[in-house]
Amino acid sequence: MSADKTPVAPASNFIRHIVERDIEQGTYASRQWCGEPGDASTQATGQPDPAKIRTRFPPEPNGYLHIGHAKSICLNFGLARDYQGVCHMRFDDTNPEKEEQEYVDSIKDSVQWLGFGWEAFGHSHLYYASNYFDFMYRAAEYLITSGNAYVDQQSAEEMRINRGTLTEAGKNSPWRDRPAEENLALFREMRDGKHPDGSMVLRAKIDMASPNINLRDPAIYRIKRATHHNTGDTWCIYPMYTYAHPLEDALEGITHSICTLEFEDQRPFYDWVLEKLAEGGLLAHPLPKQYEFSRLNLTYVVLSKRKLIELVDGGHVSGWDDPRLPTLAGARRRGYTPEGFRLFADRIGVSKADSWIEYTILEDCMRETLNESAERRIAVLDPIKLVIDNYPEGQSEDCFAPNHPQKPELGKRTVPLSRELWIEREDFMEVPSKGYFRLFPDNTVRLRYGYVIKCTGFEKDADGNVTVVHCDYLPDTKSGTPGADSIKVKGNIHWVSAAHAYAAEVRLYDRLFKEAHPGSGDRNYLDDINPNSLTVITAQLEPALKEAKPEDTFQFERHGYFVADKKDSVEGKPVFNRTVTLRDAWQK
Ligand code: ATP
Ligand code: MG
Repeated sequence: MSADKTPVAPASNFIRHIVERDIEQGTYASRQWCGEPGDASTQATGQPDPAKIRTRFPPEPNGYLHIGHAKSICLNFGLARDYQGVCHMRFDDTNPEKEEQEYVDSIKDSVQWLGFGWEAFGHSHLYYASNYFDFMYRAAEYLITSGNAYVDQQSAEEMRINRGTLTEAGKNSPWRDRPAEENLALFREMRDGKHPDGSMVLRAKIDMASPNINLRDPAIYRIKRATHHNTGDTWCIYPMYTYAHPLEDALEGITHSICTLEFEDQRPFYDWVLEKLAEGGLLAHPLPKQYEFSRLNLTYVVLSKRKLIELVDGGHVSGWDDPRLPTLAGARRRGYTPEGFRLFADRIGVSKADSWIEYTILEDCMRETLNESAERRIAVLDPIKLVIDNYPEGQSEDCFAPNHPQKPELGKRTVPLSRELWIEREDFMEVPSKGYFRLFPDNTVRLRYGYVIKCTGFEKDADGNVTVVHCDYLPDTKSGTPGADSIKVKGNIHWVSAAHAYAAEVRLYDRLFKEAHPGSGDRNYLDDINPNSLTVITAQLEPALKEAKPEDTFQFERHGYFVADKKDSVEGKPVFNRTVTLRDAWQK
């Protein structure tokens, strides 16, 4: 697999085949679009739709987006991008209880961060489902007058019992055959606040014996006295999601309505309600079609809004954008890239088969994109002192380090060398193990981009820990000079000049869960939290890193990819988050 580029043409999948077939056969060629969502008569005043297809991404604004949503975003916006279409950004805010502006803002931000937008053909396609309440109400009245819906006064318990089971047909409600005028009068009373919450519902009249329970007269409107963030107290009845969603799609001229597999059994109702409204002339053919794909399940994370809320509210993480969370806000702070997510979405593909994707696949996508884009820097994460005893005190000189080994056009930067350096603790061994080529007494190694040195001794503290390593340098061996190759060494270690180093807070993140399937078996997923998911250290960084701006990403040579934290960095004092190690430490 190509290690360095996002493929130009995404891999095909069954949904792309459907879209290509529809475009070829002109399935949606006759659609009119008046420039905004609307019913049949409104759209009829428009022009032939310039968009070949319309898809939508329809989150409920009741939480932050997570990596699963990224799959849906890349799919829906990606189809629109590749087939001269439009993807609508739609907030599905028909449930009055849960929505918040904070979520709306962060969702828009995440979609744009992933590289997508909703401006197309001279219009902004940002919509709110709650703007369609009038139409949804009118459509419900039409269903009533055409004999396709009725007001049911059974209690919730009675309704549950009479719904039947998978093996047993349901029983008709005693209210099912009420005359249309009576239903209409009652429905208007529901709207006018004449009846208490929960006392009655409007139901579609389909078939109580259907083998598909979703067709056993599903509820389409309920009474709920709740203030809606957009419509305030205008309504005390609200449409059910399964009724609202197809109508939203139809009003927006959606061609391919793509959702996750758990909605498969809803598809017959989706088609039923749209057909009925088309019969009544409220909507026009061709109608939207629903297609289902399997949702993303990713090992070592949880992708359920409820669990994410628990992790945040329970204080297991620092907030919605904690870099360990699989939210897109968290992933961004962690240093994950939009290119990496798009590569990931393409690589895992789209199918109807339920499966688990290994977290390492996502990490590899991040490594691949970061390897391309991130400049190299030097960081010592676990420092001990190295003193070059034959190097003059107070002196320093420049060494030259390439910013990117595969991209010479990115140039070199200077790193200062002086008498006292920081090196990694693991780059010295008092007694070398077999095959150890780094520093140990009497051994020679190269200081990367600097001189060859020979280890002359070391110091220990009272506990026996090595505190200082001593060496001499060989003056004619500087990298980039003719003498550089005069001595062959097996080891090559990185270093930072102690006098020039920037001592920075660095956060070493690891997986939030220690189990691949958190909470599987009888365990509570909270018990699977990795107690070592965050280690905060003070690292010694090369001086250039002091100037890093929030969200600048780097490869710290030999360690991994790091990003300047967008929240806690201040000018001249960035804090770094480890995005991902260079190699997978979890694979055995
Ligand atoms: P909840 O956890 O409350 O069920 P949700 O994750 O389904 O919420 P929505 O706001 O309804 O959240 O999701 C918006 C869109 O994202 C939907 O079209 C949904 O199918 C899709 N989506 C959500 N989770 C995943 C996932 N894990 N994989 C792929 N698509 C997803
Ligand atoms: Mg949902």
